[in-house]
Amino acid sequence: MDETPSGNAPSDSSPVPALPRRLAVGGAVTLLGAAALAAAGAFGVGRPAASAESRPPGPSYPPTHWIPASAANYTVSSRPGAYPVEYVVVHVTQETFPDTVKIFQNPAAKVSAHYLVASADGYVAQFVRERDIAWHAGNWNYNTRSIGIEHEGWVDRPEYFTDALYRASARLTAAVCDRYGIPRTREHIIGHAEVPGSTHTDPGPYWDWDRYMDLVTGQAPRGR
Ligand SMILES: [Zn+2]
Repeated sequence: MDETPSGNAPSDSSPVPALPRRLAVGGAVTLLGAAALAAAGAFGVGRPAASAESRPPGPSYPPTHWIPASAANYTVSSRPGAYPVEYVVVHVTQETFPDTVKIFQNPAAKVSAHYLVASADGYVAQFVRERDIAWHAGNWNYNTRSIGIEHEGWVDRPEYFTDALYRASARLTAAVCDRYGIPRTREHIIGHAEVPGSTHTDPGPYWDWDRYMDLVTGQAPRGR
């Protein structure tokens, strides 16, 4: 996610205070292996219920859980008519899943992503409709032309990058690419750190791009 929202919103929006940059280490979750956390169900604790409106209007593959972001944290649009969708931007949250949900639902946060994938089990929540512009890349031109996918974890804690997370995310990214005719290549599936002007390092050096891209390109093609 982007905690320095200056580049996220349209340039004519009023300035908003930056959120405090959170530390990449520490936090409430004790450093355990992801498998141990999964076995303990730790990530399920405090996970918010999906909205009664079970899924957002629009694409329904793969299945996701609709937990709408605050309307103050994204821009309503009519993509891909208003803007072509050309990129998938891969993020790591630097937050737990429940804390990320709270941020996206906080109208003062001025940040959002379309999707968030849980570390332990690959649960996918959707916060912003794909036709709308989520505020995740810190770069308005990229926000308008991308789908943002957050992954629960920390850039320096590779144990969060589980097989379940990689597989669920790859299935989602492949479906997004097929919907908009985006090539399944690293030129179009990029890390937040690769967005021009980015001050963020996510997904970081432990994100296994080779493994991820193999999973993305290995997904069967789907019609748009
Ligand atoms: Zn990010």
